[in-house]
Amino acid sequence: MKTASDLERMLNAIDRKSYPAYKDLRGQYDFGEYIFSIDHVQGDPFASPSRVSLRVLMEKAKFPQEYLAEKHKRVTLQDHLTRLFGEAVRKGSFQAKGSGKSGLLAVSKCGQEVLERTACCITDKEIIMRFEIGFPANGRSVNARELNKILFKIVPECTKKTLYYASIDQKALRTAIELCEDQEYVRKNLSDMGLCVFIADGSVLPRQSGVSQKPLEGAVPFQAPESLKVTMNLPCRGPVTGMGIRRGITLLVGGGYHGKSTVLQAIQDGVYNHISGDGRELVITDRSAVKLRAEDGRSISSVDISPFINHLPNGKDTTRFTTEDASGSTSQAAGLMEAMESGSRLILMDEDTSATNFMIRDRLMQQVVSSGEEPITPFIERVNSLHKDLGISTILVAGSCGSYFHVADTIIQMKEYVPMDVTGVAKSAAAEYMEFETPRSKFPIYLVDRVPLRDRKLLQEERIKIKNFGMDQIAIAKNNIELRGLEQLKDEEQTRALGYIVKELLVRVFDGRCTLAQAVERMDNQIEEQGLESLFARGDVTASLALPRKQEMLAAISRYRGLQF
Ligand code: ADP
Ligand code: MG
Repeated sequence: MKTASDLERMLNAIDRKSYPAYKDLRGQYDFGEYIFSIDHVQGDPFASPSRVSLRVLMEKAKFPQEYLAEKHKRVTLQDHLTRLFGEAVRKGSFQAKGSGKSGLLAVSKCGQEVLERTACCITDKEIIMRFEIGFPANGRSVNARELNKILFKIVPECTKKTLYYASIDQKALRTAIELCEDQEYVRKNLSDMGLCVFIADGSVLPRQSGVSQKPLEGAVPFQAPESLKVTMNLPCRGPVTGMGIRRGITLLVGGGYHGKSTVLQAIQDGVYNHISGDGRELVITDRSAVKLRAEDGRSISSVDISPFINHLPNGKDTTRFTTEDASGSTSQAAGLMEAMESGSRLILMDEDTSATNFMIRDRLMQQVVSSGEEPITPFIERVNSLHKDLGISTILVAGSCGSYFHVADTIIQMKEYVPMDVTGVAKSAAAEYMEFETPRSKFPIYLVDRVPLRDRKLLQEERIKIKNFGMDQIAIAKNNIELRGLEQLKDEEQTRALGYIVKELLVRVFDGRCTLAQAVERMDNQIEEQGLESLFARGDVTASLALPRKQEMLAAISRYRGLQF
């Protein structure tokens, strides 16, 4: 293998040559303390920065073996080191100067969640850190001196400070690892305790603002009502009390602005682990939970929505319902059936973002428009059988609709940000108000065998371009997929990963035999076994990705407008 001094020599030799001469530097170099690799070189100073990586052997980095033993700890260690290394290189960014992106240094920016990323991969053998460098230019020519400063001064310093156990704050790392052990413990034990959510007392749920996910200062800390209090015996922190939401149907009610949606938001984000100091560290939700909302205009391909929608006026089949432009109610029905297809055991909905006619039909409306004329069986008539027959729980924010009192198992009122168990009061009030009878019918039989076909048109493309536009949209060879409705996507890198995943499904995994759910399962297993890196066609990693859940994978592919069955 070439060495650092070879690299220095090669770099000197191309000084002041035209910018593409940088391409000659591609390859791996032994720096003694680590192997440095130039994986992709940008075409010009204004293009996306060059992609590089470095490998530190574990026998030198010396992180404790126990931190690598289990997956969740390893992911936490990866996250922790990405943050440390990221902070260090940000300080070193643009210290080398030049035109365009010259001197930029960047690593994946981690938010409040702990996610698996391509940025850092740790095995028993080594730590791989992947990042970007804007190779410095003078106008349009190579500036060897400035790149020399980055490669031989800034990067080695950042590495030394952050990727060796001996040089980092070991206590902070231990805190992070212990937290993830506690989080893992709660998530594992929820189901056995008959729960789908745990919110520890003292949690801080509201966020600073719509654009900041940091905790709101001076917020009212969460305090569980006595009747819903449970104690979790955490392996590291010891006993912690909090509110346990039992499986079944739970309503969150209360006056406007009393904090209902904030609780639901924390619950939907609780499918991920949060970092220490976030306020939601011990808000833990069933990992398969899906937040549903109405999503007018989305595409639906061959979904059986007949448990909710039948006898459409245009005679359209609702057992294999297909549309390029869904209504609020059909989109929500399809979203629910797809969530079930993805193996979700918990559905989350907020009345404010739901289609009213999907949720409810009141007495008066039933009298005027007979059920024979109404294609929709509202969710309220199915929510009990969804739980009893299929084991799927629901948590619903209901600010205005009291009918759900009849079907709920637990009713929690938010009052000035404090939850109160009002199940008894609400149930007896409802009993006197027989506006609605609890339906007893079973959840109808529905089709579960969507078998997607490989996308032949896409296969004919010479090179399939994958793009993402922020967090909300991806494009596969110019076919846009709108993901704004997937509220549980938390990071742009997850969206980018979904682009790669959707492409893989369309051109490789779909084979006309396996079902959509099986295909997604295969994809999920592949990533579990071979890492996110396995999404790249060639061995070299060329993008920063973060892992989305299976639920988002299925939701994303379901919104692809060219999906064929
Ligand atoms: P609702 O859905 O009941 O109308 P929201 O959940 O939207 O209410 O909350 C209303 C406002 O109150 C938001 O601006 C939110 O940030 C703030 N808020 C929510 N929970 C708390 C809390 N525990 N302490 C302080 N402010 C809070
Ligand atoms: Mg609200």
